[in-house]
Amino acid sequence: MNFSVFVEIVLAAIAVRVAFHFIDKNRIQQEVETRGGRVVSIKWKPFARGWFFEKNERHYDITFIDRSGETISTTCKTSFFTGVYWAEGPSMVEKPRIASWLHCMKCGYALNADWAACPHCGHRVGSG
Ligand SMILES: [Zn+2]
Repeated sequence: MNFSVFVEIVLAAIAVRVAFHFIDKNRIQQEVETRGGRVVSIKWKPFARGWFFEKNERHYDITFIDRSGETISTTCKTSFFTGVYWAEGPSMVEKPRIASWLHCMKCGYALNADWAACPHCGHRVGSG
């Protein structure tokens, strides 16, 4: 194999990778901003799963401030055709009305806010 051709291929691959990086950053930033957040930092994780062109996915560490002013660090992956996926759930999306801190006062069973009584022990929710 001609060495200079090999070098050109490598350089082209790096150039494409860098271009993807900027496209990804823009996309992630837009994703955060459309949800009312503000990006603090986006760091490429080259050694995460999906390294380089594997599965056409890139992984990033993201820190952003959500609309309530909370600083959140998370991981996302993105690929050219499928958009941005958040590794730990889209925490900046409207929080579901299930209050995870709500537990049965009697038995400690995790409760859905809609439930009037604990399904585990029958204790009335909110009655102490
Ligand atoms: Zn209970």
